[in-house]
Amino acid sequence: MRSIYLDHAATTPLDPQVNKVMYEHAEKIYGNPSSVHGFGREARKHIDEARKILARSIQARDTEIVFTSSGTEAINYALQGIAQSQANKGKHVITSNQKHQATLHTMEYLESIGYDVSYVQTDETGRMNPKDVEKYITDETILVSIMMVNNETGVIQPIQEIGSICADENIYFHTDAVQAFGPLDIDVDTLKVDLLTISAHKVNGPKGVGALFIKEGTTIDSILFGGDQERKRRAGTENVIGIVGFGQAVKQLEKNREEAQHHYATCKETFLTALRKENVSFHINGDAAEQIDGTVNVSFPGTQTESMLMNMDLEGIAASSGSACTAGTVEDSHVLTAMYGSESDRVKNSIRFSFGRGNTPEEMKEAASRMAAIIERITN
Ligand code: PLP
Repeated sequence: MRSIYLDHAATTPLDPQVNKVMYEHAEKIYGNPSSVHGFGREARKHIDEARKILARSIQARDTEIVFTSSGTEAINYALQGIAQSQANKGKHVITSNQKHQATLHTMEYLESIGYDVSYVQTDETGRMNPKDVEKYITDETILVSIMMVNNETGVIQPIQEIGSICADENIYFHTDAVQAFGPLDIDVDTLKVDLLTISAHKVNGPKGVGALFIKEGTTIDSILFGGDQERKRRAGTENVIGIVGFGQAVKQLEKNREEAQHHYATCKETFLTALRKENVSFHINGDAAEQIDGTVNVSFPGTQTESMLMNMDLEGIAASSGSACTAGTVEDSHVLTAMYGSESDRVKNSIRFSFGRGNTPEEMKEAASRMAAIIERITN
């Protein structure tokens, strides 16, 4: 039986061209990019090329990109770095109840050291009302952090509107764009963001490399202490080959963007149509009209997420209950709980399917057919 991978929101396979470029560079480039000799300068040149590619892809300047070890580190840097640098102005931060663990746990840390965090609520659509952000702003507010696309539901947040509010109020605005980078065109000026996080492994790049966009003029403290790398903003010898891979992945992304969008939309549509044809009863979680094409979160009445995932694994379908970081231990989703309430069946019977470049329409039909057989077995 052929396995079908429908968990691209957790991570994506390495693009073969990215793999090739990384391999070639790994054989030749080994200088420390901080060294002044030729070996070091060569390594630095490759980092700076990747930096240029990333910067161009979000309409930023090269100097506004800082490489990190992950999306998680970039989020920690943005939130802790701004909180520390602005502490003399105020200690109030705003986020939403729809967030990834990286933000959730950093916010909990900030609360533990005396910051006040407000959580903007979303309704069943999973979308926030920008006006709700405005309501929470006080004289003490120093930072707003809202994710661009939710990792569990694929719902897109009104980042530009929130960015305008923050700009008018002179408050720093960070967005976690880890799930948005690739599916959506990102222009940091139009969105009016001061800080933006991305991660390589969600766009067919290597794991363990991320980046933070920091708008020129932003006052942010470093959270790692050591050498002067990344213009004194992020200490630690750079992951040169990983960064080269990130750059190459973004190059590939830009080349194939439209085709890829169309492909994800086809996958989603084919999968959902096939489920309907198989007479599977289901509901899509969140506002289907405001979701990226690559992700769909589906509630299957009468089932339970954990047993579904186990059965799906046995039937060769790899999907997830939601965030990759809690996959493996299936807890109730805090994202779906925030949308539907803790008593809702949807919190206990939902599965996230996320599509990628390698999926085919045939796989979508096959996955739907296997799902129908599993649900029939479980519910009867
Ligand atoms: N933010 C979102 C929305 C994510 O989906 C993820 C990864 O699942 C992260 C942040 C963390 O990124 P990384 O895996 O690079 O640490």
